[in-house]
Amino acid sequence: MSTMKCIVKAKPEPGGLEFQERPIPKAGPGQVVIKQKAVSICGTDLHIYNWDAWSQNRVSLPCILGHEFAGHVSDVGPNVNHVKEGDYVSGEGHLVCGVCQQCRTGMGHVCESWKGLGYDIDGAFCEYLLFPASGVVHNDPDVDPAMAAIQDPLGNAVHTVFAQDCVAKKVAVFGLGPVGALSVAVLRAIGADTIFAVGRRNQYRIDLAKACGAHHVIAGAEIDPVAYIMDHTDGKGVDVCLEISGNPKAFQNALDVVKDAGHISVIGTSNDKYEVDFAKDVVFKAVNIHGITGRMIWDTWYKMKGLFASGNLDVSKVITHRMPYADYEKGFEIMQSGNCGKVVLDL
Ligand SMILES: [Zn+2]
Ligand SMILES: [Zn+2]
Repeated sequence: MSTMKCIVKAKPEPGGLEFQERPIPKAGPGQVVIKQKAVSICGTDLHIYNWDAWSQNRVSLPCILGHEFAGHVSDVGPNVNHVKEGDYVSGEGHLVCGVCQQCRTGMGHVCESWKGLGYDIDGAFCEYLLFPASGVVHNDPDVDPAMAAIQDPLGNAVHTVFAQDCVAKKVAVFGLGPVGALSVAVLRAIGADTIFAVGRRNQYRIDLAKACGAHHVIAGAEIDPVAYIMDHTDGKGVDVCLEISGNPKAFQNALDVVKDAGHISVIGTSNDKYEVDFAKDVVFKAVNIHGITGRMIWDTWYKMKGLFASGNLDVSKVITHRMPYADYEKGFEIMQSGNCGKVVLDL
């Protein structure tokens, strides 16, 4: 067999996916080929599926989608010494240059010239992925391929949680999509004192946050999260807020419930401007606001390895749907509905 099936965004319209045949790649210098075992659908893939304004600006078609994956190395190119055939691997979906100032100072997540797998270049929704060996991460053989595949959003959660000390702290998580649910699971694993999980109205995702270990879940459309959190913290508020929703109102809620000298890590994004009373809510409160993007390279990946090995982290509940690779259309429809955590396609 010399061709493989790929999930391709072929047409510049909502939907517009095709299951196309492409030649199986061969590893060149510094590259490997990975025979995929599991891939998962990201919110980013859904943006491209829906062909929103961001995708129209960023993505040239046709493009193989996907950047969340796990598989086994099937071909190793010249000048690759740390990866061998048969290795069980995943990889960082932000392909970084490795030589810019940020990359050389441990800040590769804001590399000057990074490229996104599955939107800047052809992605991981294929049977054999051509990938730079420098971006490969080895998985522990005990980690299920579905768990290994979701290390991209899990890494977002780990990066967001570890941006400040959350151990034995009261923490509010705003936004209960997959990264929110995974953040709750990570907070639980590392011993946060009390976890408040704040959604809007999606009961499926509120229940998921509860299943992941949130002590309190709040449907923000029905209950005022600020009043609820202040009531349940003796009027003191929380040490840490994680803003994952990208809703400006949630960011204001975070400012309202965070203690003086507390931390807010923000990974949620919005097209709207945020109106903030900076003097009152940030300066005089001495609040630390931390922008989060991607995963720390490679610190976040080592932390995930440690969390998996500890046995304390349970992300199995976040993988709510698993189906054969060829059923990808159904997977995208489930993602579209919002009644899901992570959707994994098995190869
Ligand atoms: Zn992703
Ligand atoms: Zn760089």
